[in-house]
Amino acid sequence: MIFYETINIKEEITVDFKISGRIETIVGMINEFVDKELIPLEAQFLTKDFRELLPILKEKQKIVKKMELWAPNFPVECGGMGLSLLEHGLVSEALGRSPLGHYVFWCQAPDAGNVEILHEHGTKEQKEMYLNPLVKGDIRSCFAMTEVDMPGSNPVMLETTAVKDGDDYVINGHKWYTTAADGADFAITMAVTDPDGPTYGKASMIIVPADTKGFNLVRNIPVMGHEGSDYFSHGEIIFESCRVPQKNLLGKEGKGFVIAQDRLGPGRIHHCMRWLGICRRAFELMCRRASERVISPSGQTLGTRQTIQNWIAESAAELKAARLLTLNSAWQIDNNGASKARDSISMIKFVVANTMQKIVDRALQVHGGLGMTDDTILAYFFRHERAARIYDGADEVHKTSLAKRILKTYKEL
Ligand SMILES: Cc1cc2nc3c(=O)[nH]c(=O)nc-3n(C[C@H](O)[C@H](O)[C@H](O)COP(=O)(O)OP(=O)(O)OC[C@H]3O[C@@H](n4cnc5c(N)ncnc54)[C@H](O)[C@@H]3O)c2cc1C
Repeated sequence: MIFYETINIKEEITVDFKISGRIETIVGMINEFVDKELIPLEAQFLTKDFRELLPILKEKQKIVKKMELWAPNFPVECGGMGLSLLEHGLVSEALGRSPLGHYVFWCQAPDAGNVEILHEHGTKEQKEMYLNPLVKGDIRSCFAMTEVDMPGSNPVMLETTAVKDGDDYVINGHKWYTTAADGADFAITMAVTDPDGPTYGKASMIIVPADTKGFNLVRNIPVMGHEGSDYFSHGEIIFESCRVPQKNLLGKEGKGFVIAQDRLGPGRIHHCMRWLGICRRAFELMCRRASERVISPSGQTLGTRQTIQNWIAESAAELKAARLLTLNSAWQIDNNGASKARDSISMIKFVVANTMQKIVDRALQVHGGLGMTDDTILAYFFRHERAARIYDGADEVHKTSLAKRILKTYKEL
């Protein structure tokens, strides 16, 4: 039996931040679309190969385009809505309530970040070949940085090399966790171009079309028991004498880490707001189940028990705190730039990831055996969103760098 739930979220956006009427309307439209068009597809999403859903998702994407809500965070001149980070954060939260949200509205990672990179650093030719079709949704992309044998937490230790040969780069290396590589048309690949250069000047970003000889997608890595497919997968790639023209260099040679850093600040707001959408969904499910599940012959529900009440109260408070912190960080980036918001960005990355893990876990626990099944979305969130504490900087790395920056101010006093 599949359990559906109706969503009843009271928006608080006007109370917390001054948001324009236009954005309130957009967020309202998106919440309604997610409830009516996407949540009913989740039963299929959880039981079928994702590729089987592509035709129906393409239909939904057409509706999104007609509603003029396509690619909310992409620049207007590229065909997006050009929302600010704070505005897109609110959209991302509404979309995050379903795993299908970002994909259908075309603001999913890693494409969203790749669009930003191509827009900022791409040549005219690169924009025509890769950016324009990517924004339209005609092609997909992936981002290949992390390596099997090297610590992703310290990416300056990359081993993948891109060596110049004639007019080409020849790339060799072993990457994994290249999200959505299956079915992607190209990979933005980080490779060492100057092994003797300064630590942060060794690596470059290079566009590698997925049909290039020597670009070998070896497998989709099983993650928490699922290999996934197409967009919902994480690839392992061996670059074996993979030859691409030097004109595929993205930005300047040796600037790979600088470009990656620029991409991470806004990317973390997108992730955190998506996670807050997950928190909201899990919270709604928890409250609904607590008020409906009868656990005594006299008709008392789970919600009459103090432990469950504590979980609900704690979750509500933690969600609100995490949300305010994240919206404030988005506001700071919009108004003062990402480098001035570094502390806030580090904070939200570990605060929101852990808040999400706690709330999803409590919601699952309240559902008992049902929570472990795929008859609700909770087990999916539990499996796949655990990774939030690892990618885009593990908790420990963010805490260490934040604490170091704080302590430095004491030393200087
Ligand atoms: C679902 C998922 C999707 C991903 N998508 C992509 C993608 O699209 N493209 C891409 O390039 N990569 C991607 N990644 C890879 C991700 O960025 C790396 O997994 C991450 O950077 C951590 O690197 P690592 O796995 O090599 O762990 P390691 O660097 O080996 O670290 C292991 C653990 O050590 C601890 N640790 C590390 N450094 C410190 C420290 N300084 N102090 C204390 N503890 C520390 C942390 O707990 C960390 O989790 C993805 C990962 C996941 C799980």
